[in-house]
Amino acid sequence: MTMTHPSASPVLDVVSLGKYFTVGGGLRTQQLRALHDASFSLGEREVIALVGESGSGKSTIARLLARLMPPSSGKILFKGRDILKEEPSRASLAYRGQVQMIFQDPFGSLNPVHTIGYHLERPLLLHGKANNPAVLREKVHSLLTTVDLNPAAEVAAKFPHQLSGGQRQRVAIARALAVDPSVILADEPISMLDVSIRMGVLNLMERLKEERGISYLYITHDIASARYVADRTMVMYAGHIVEGAPSEELMQQPAHPYTKLLLSAVPDPQGSIRSELPARSGTPKLINPPPGCPFADRCPSVMNTCREQMPETADLGSGHWVRCHLFPPGSVAASAHHERKVPASVEAAAV
Ligand code: SF4
Repeated sequence: MTMTHPSASPVLDVVSLGKYFTVGGGLRTQQLRALHDASFSLGEREVIALVGESGSGKSTIARLLARLMPPSSGKILFKGRDILKEEPSRASLAYRGQVQMIFQDPFGSLNPVHTIGYHLERPLLLHGKANNPAVLREKVHSLLTTVDLNPAAEVAAKFPHQLSGGQRQRVAIARALAVDPSVILADEPISMLDVSIRMGVLNLMERLKEERGISYLYITHDIASARYVADRTMVMYAGHIVEGAPSEELMQQPAHPYTKLLLSAVPDPQGSIRSELPARSGTPKLINPPPGCPFADRCPSVMNTCREQMPETADLGSGHWVRCHLFPPGSVAASAHHERKVPASVEAAAV
């Protein structure tokens, strides 16, 4: 099932995207399956959160969409164009301008020997957005002002180490904005920032969505922050998207046992963890994975069939779907679906 946006014309359509890596060598060559059959569409001015733990495949999706590596299977449609059929040339450069990426580590993504102004000038020049030094300087200052880095002339003359983590992430956002993107792929954009400045960066992203019509794929391991920023949330486990829904619906009525585990592990404001489900140990097997559900080794509801067959997608209505044998396809009102409400800790720990 494709997670579709209600709007008629999505900006990005991801169709059965897969990524496998070859590991080892000679007779020991094996396939690491990082991403299986991911399908969804991202609408204009929409924020989709991809939530999951390390190794779940969420950053792999972002890197495939940014064309930092080729997929093993599937399609990426940008405004209806199959961009994987376009050769690395002018068309590809235009796509990269339209689909920008923000990385987790704002310091690592900036070159310490260059000024902030230099970092913003480069994309402007590369994409032909300024044709003389005066226009270039004006655009750099305008970008810095847009992300609330003032006085712009002073900030432009600074080096990355002279800014705070939050300011550096704002520079990374300004750099992405330099080429007027339609989509920003934000890979854990606040996870390395102090808690006190996370909200400011998320609010900036929200404002830019409204002002510039930008859509975001927001990648995070923090399901509470997904609730704060995302229209829809998709949950990933072991390279599979296992559940997707409007964010509020997902938090109020999680269906997949893994989603419930994520929600129950959100720290409450007093700093403790409220885990209502047994957090069974076990890491998913990405190399030669066994048949069946990838969550079977950790799932408190595991059944025999879970170890034999991969669950089909069940439509739970209102844009909510899940891949779990507790919800056979067609059983919209499966009994397990409405048994749990969002924990108070998720309400409180939005970021
Ligand atoms: Fe658990 Fe089975 Fe559902 Fe997988 S398919 S999440 S093992 S109940």
